[in-house]
Amino acid sequence: MDKNMYCNGEWIGADLDRIKVTNPATGEVIGSVPNGGKSETKQAIAAANEAFKGWSKKTANERASYLKKLYELVVNHSDELAELITKEMGKPKQEAAGEVGYGASFIEWYAEEGKRVYGETIPASHDNKRLHVWKQPVGVVAAITPWNFPAAMITRKVAPALAAGCTVVLKPAEDTPLTALRIAELVEEAGFPKGVFNIVTGAPDVIGTELMENPIVKKVTFTGSTEVGKLLMRQAADNVKKLSLELGGHAPFIILDDADVDKAVQGVVASKFRNAGQTCVCANRIYIQPKIYDAFIEKFNQEVDKLIVGDGSNDNVHIGPLINQSAYEKVDRHVQDALKQGAKLVTGGSGFEQEGAYFYKPTILKDVRDSMLIMNEETFGPVAPIQLIQSDEEAVQLANQTPYGLAAYVYSEGLSRGMKVVEALDYGIVGWNDGLPSVAQAPFGGMKESGLEREGGHHGIEPFLETKYVSIGL
Ligand code: NAP
Repeated sequence: MDKNMYCNGEWIGADLDRIKVTNPATGEVIGSVPNGGKSETKQAIAAANEAFKGWSKKTANERASYLKKLYELVVNHSDELAELITKEMGKPKQEAAGEVGYGASFIEWYAEEGKRVYGETIPASHDNKRLHVWKQPVGVVAAITPWNFPAAMITRKVAPALAAGCTVVLKPAEDTPLTALRIAELVEEAGFPKGVFNIVTGAPDVIGTELMENPIVKKVTFTGSTEVGKLLMRQAADNVKKLSLELGGHAPFIILDDADVDKAVQGVVASKFRNAGQTCVCANRIYIQPKIYDAFIEKFNQEVDKLIVGDGSNDNVHIGPLINQSAYEKVDRHVQDALKQGAKLVTGGSGFEQEGAYFYKPTILKDVRDSMLIMNEETFGPVAPIQLIQSDEEAVQLANQTPYGLAAYVYSEGLSRGMKVVEALDYGIVGWNDGLPSVAQAPFGGMKESGLEREGGHHGIEPFLETKYVSIGL
């Protein structure tokens, strides 16, 4: 499956070197994309700039009709898109289908939300003045996305940007460009004017630098690691480019002793093992109080033992491969460090390599302590470390003891007790008795080093809008 870049309504880059795309479950090469660079990025930015003139002048209803067509096309092609996601990213096909549905929900939601971009009138201090606030699209937007949700991380950015009247240049992850380019084919089929949506593939630093330095690009929206997010923030300083950052997480999962243990087990399994633990919001450290510590671990272990590891294209598989060798090595380093420092292995604890594909068994570690590597770094793998805590205050203190602030989880049946803990957490998203809180209509994003701005909800369109204050003398 060889695809080219999408720029100004044309498929370009057939003459460039190719980047191979592999299936992380088999190591097999499944396709290739062009190794684009500075000149293709400039070309895409120029196309988006030209298209902005017409797209920004369309009514919100007109833009919504294009987005609705795209939504229908994505839904009608969901099986095919899910299969592609499984092939290039590795997540099991049921989960891939879930991602397509989740990704499509942002297109549907923002098609409507674009119609609700309201301004304001402000009472003036003088009879001969009228004060207004207008909202206008920021202009050309650059979007940079990660591999772990090859479709949804794109639609969560592109749908609100287009609905707001912006045009977009997207750089997808090198590991998963095929899903992005298939979405571009659907954009083409939906009849969007040329240049409204463009994709460049290739060297991330070269494309990234052009996107950050080119003054035509007015806004960059990035999802990925905190390390790259910080680099982009430094690059953005030179021309004060607007920036949205959805970065790494290190989610605490707090289970108080008044929790419903069965609900908590279901919540952790969903949060921790989805996408083989390769999500920014997945439970990375589990804190449990003594009264339910053993009972929880026993039930949790029973559920985890049912999870099957393998190639996600097989029907019965729950946990696919890790994305690559270095991801595998990081996961194993976290597990070995914890075991060396005295953690006890409940299940799993190792992985295997199979013809260039890397799998890790779902793993539970208990009696973990906060000095261990796994309690301080994002693991991005199917490992659940459990630490015993004594009080609600200790739970909050440990949960907040990190530079990250994306998602946290609290399981408690007590209203005032749960409320106090939730209020004290420095996190952008809290799932209270809910292991899967993310939906299109609610804000998603992090505090502290987990990011800037929000995606989803009415909050998610704001970063693509400028606020213009207009004072009119009569
Ligand atoms: P990454 O290495 O930061 O890559 C993300 C994107 O940035 C990719 O498209 C990558 O391109 C590109 N990139 C790399 N170096 C760049 C540079 N110098 N300039 C411009 N772009 C550059 O992150 P990842 O490993 O793909 O994704 C995993 C991380 O994303 C985790 O930390 C996870 O927590 C985070 N994440 C956060 C959210 C959220 O909503 N907060 C959601 C999902 C994932 P290449 O692929 O070509 O290298």
